[in-house]
Amino acid sequence: PGFPPIDFKAELNEEQFNAVTAPPGPVLVLAGAGSGKTRTLTYRVAWLLHQGIPPGEIMLLTFTNKASKEMLHRVHDLTGAEANRFWGGTFHSLGNRALRMFGDSPALKLPRNFTILDADESESLLKRVVEAEHKSFFKDKTNPRPGPLFSVLSMSRNTQKSLAQTVEDHYPQYSDIAVSLPTFAKAYEATKREQNVVDYDDLLELWLKLLQEDPKVADYFAQRFRHLLVDEYQDTNTIQSQIVDALAPHHRIMAVGDDAQCIYSWRGANFENIMTFLERHPGAQLHRIETNYRSTPQILNLANGVLLAQPAGRHFDKELRAHRANSQKPYVVQTMDDREQAEFLIKRIRALVEDEGVSPHEIAVLYRSHFVALETQLAFSRAGVPYHITSGVKFFERAHVRDLVAILRFVYNPTDESAWQRCACLLPKIGEKGASKIYHAALDHARLMQQDFVDALTTDDVKSKVPKGARDEWPSFCASLKQTADAMRDESPQITVEVAIDGWYGDYLKGAFADYIDRLDELGALAGFAARYTEMQDLLAQIVLLNGETSDRSVDSEQDAIRLTTVHQAKGLEYDVVFVIGCADGQFPTRRSIEAGDVEEERRLFYVAVTRAKNELYLCYPKVATKAGPGGMLLSPSRFLQELPPDLYEGLRIKRAYGW
Ligand code: ATP
Ligand code: MG
Repeated sequence: PGFPPIDFKAELNEEQFNAVTAPPGPVLVLAGAGSGKTRTLTYRVAWLLHQGIPPGEIMLLTFTNKASKEMLHRVHDLTGAEANRFWGGTFHSLGNRALRMFGDSPALKLPRNFTILDADESESLLKRVVEAEHKSFFKDKTNPRPGPLFSVLSMSRNTQKSLAQTVEDHYPQYSDIAVSLPTFAKAYEATKREQNVVDYDDLLELWLKLLQEDPKVADYFAQRFRHLLVDEYQDTNTIQSQIVDALAPHHRIMAVGDDAQCIYSWRGANFENIMTFLERHPGAQLHRIETNYRSTPQILNLANGVLLAQPAGRHFDKELRAHRANSQKPYVVQTMDDREQAEFLIKRIRALVEDEGVSPHEIAVLYRSHFVALETQLAFSRAGVPYHITSGVKFFERAHVRDLVAILRFVYNPTDESAWQRCACLLPKIGEKGASKIYHAALDHARLMQQDFVDALTTDDVKSKVPKGARDEWPSFCASLKQTADAMRDESPQITVEVAIDGWYGDYLKGAFADYIDRLDELGALAGFAARYTEMQDLLAQIVLLNGETSDRSVDSEQDAIRLTTVHQAKGLEYDVVFVIGCADGQFPTRRSIEAGDVEEERRLFYVAVTRAKNELYLCYPKVATKAGPGGMLLSPSRFLQELPPDLYEGLRIKRAYGW
C-alpha cells in the first residue's frame, strides 16, 4: 500500500524468495557466507511493509549499529519508508534505549540518568570493590588479575550460568577462588547501583530482567514490536537469545545465521542457539540457501577447502555453489618480514587503484590481532596511502578524549565514581586512593547539606582532603566543573563540550603533552561530533557504544580510504579485494589458541576472513617476525594454508630486489 512495486521474484532466488515471503511466524535461515542472508532480511522488511505492517512494529537486531543503518537505508531505497521509524541496532544499543524508557520500572528502579561504564572502567570498578572486600586478593600471585576476574563474571552473565559452573566450564584454573566469586559479584552489583552506573553486560541483563519481571513492559514490547529480525544469529549468546525469546512471545521472528561463522564463543556466543531455535519456536520453518553471490568460484573453492580440512566429524554440511564467473586463483604471498609485507601491499594497492580503477574503499586489509597491523599502519602513513582503521587506538580511546569524556560524564552524573576517578587523578599528587577520599568526603557533605556535589567540592572539609600539591589547581578545577555543569543545564552538548575544553582541562593539556595542539584539534572534533546530539545523555551513551565498534577517525572522506580492520570487525561485510595479513602460525591462528590446542574457532574466523572477498584474495605471511623478541623469529605459514590442496591457490614469493 503506497509503496513502489518491488519484483521480489526477480531480485531474489527461489530459496531467498521463499524465506522472504514466508507467512509471519518463526523462520530460521541457515546458510553459508555470501549467500544473501542479510539481503534476505532486508527484503523481508520490505515485504512486511508491503503487507501493510507499519515500520514502527519492526525491530531489527544486527551485529553493529552501522549494519542496521545500512540495511534500513536499503529498505528506504526499496520502499521509501523512513529509517528512523524502525528500532534497529545492536542488542546493547537497543538495551540502552529500553532502559532509558523503562529503567524506573519497579522491577529495576534504575534512575534515568544512569551512565554507562566502558570495559576499562568496569574492570577498575571491580578491582576497587574486590580490594575493599579482600585487601590482599590481588597481592596473591596465584589469583586472577582484575581483567581475567572480570571476564569470569562477564562470561557467567552472558551465558546465564552460575559462577561455579562458569569456572568449571571455562576457567578451571580458578577453581580455588570460586567460592569467593559470588561475594565479589554481589558487591560489584551493589556498587554499580549505588553509583547509578551500568556496564555493558547490564544493558543486556537489565533489559532481560525488565522483560521477565515487569509484565507491563513485556506486554508493551510484544504489542509494539510485532516482528523481530535478527542477523548473525550464530553469534548470539544465551542472554541475547533469551532476550529475543522474551521480546517475541508471538514467535514472529526471522533469524539468519551461519554456524560455520561463529566467532564469538570467547564472549559466550553459543551456536547451539541456532540448533535449538526450531525447538524453542514450534512450527518454525527452516530455509537454506546454497548459492553464493559474493565471491568468484576460485575464492569459494579455497573457502570450502578451509572448512573441509577440519578434523573429521566436525564438518558443517555446507558447500557453497558459486554464482559468479571464473577468475584468477587466490594468492598466497610470502614476504621476508612485516615491512616487506607492507611494501607489497602498498605496491599492489597502488596498481589496483591507479591502473585497474578499483576504488580504495573496496579494498580491505584484514588481520587477526591489532599488533599484526602496526607495521602496515606505519608504512601506509609514511607512503601517504589513505586508510580508515576500525581497530587499534581508536579515537574515543585516546587518553585526552577519554579525559574529557570523563569530565562530561562526571558532571552529568556526579555519583559516577569511575568518571570522578579519571578526572581527579589528572591533578598533581592525587592518586586513586586520594581521589576516593575526596569523593566520599564530598558525597557525605553533599548529602548532609543537600547540596550539589560540584558545589560540595569547594567546601572547607572537602578541601582539607586535597593533597598540598593539588591545592593550587583545585579552585580552577572546581570552577571549570561548575561552568561545565551550568553549560550542560542551559546549552547544547556541543557548547558544553567547548566550555569543558576551554576550562581547566585546556590548561592541563598544555602542561601535560608536547603535542597538545594536535590533541586540542582532536577535542575540537569531539565538539563537532557532539553537534549531532541535542541531549547530553544520548551523546554520552553513543560514545561508550561506539567504543565497542568502529572509530570515526577518518571523518574526512571514507570513500578514498583503504579499510584496515580485524576479522571480527569485518563480519558480514564484503570488499572487491581482500588482503589477509599475518597468515602465519602463531599470528593466525594465534599462539594462545595453538597452545590451548583449540584452533577451531580460529578456523571459523579464517573462513570469515576469506569469504569477505568478492574478486581478489591475497593471503600474506612474513617469514620472520621482526618484533617477536630479540633477533626475530622464524614463522611457518598458517596451518590453515598448509592444510589446503596447493592447486587452490597460486604461490608468490616476494623478494625485495624484484618486487612487483
Ligand atoms: P555473510 O555470511 O558474510 O553475512 P550473507 O549471507 O549475509 O553473507 P549478503 O551480504 O546478504 O550475504 O549477500 C552477499 C552478496 O551477494 C551481496 O552483495 C548481495 O547483494 C549479493 N546477493 C545476494 N543474493 C543475491 C541475488 N539473489 N541476486 C543478486 N545478488 C545477490
Ligand atoms: Mg550477512
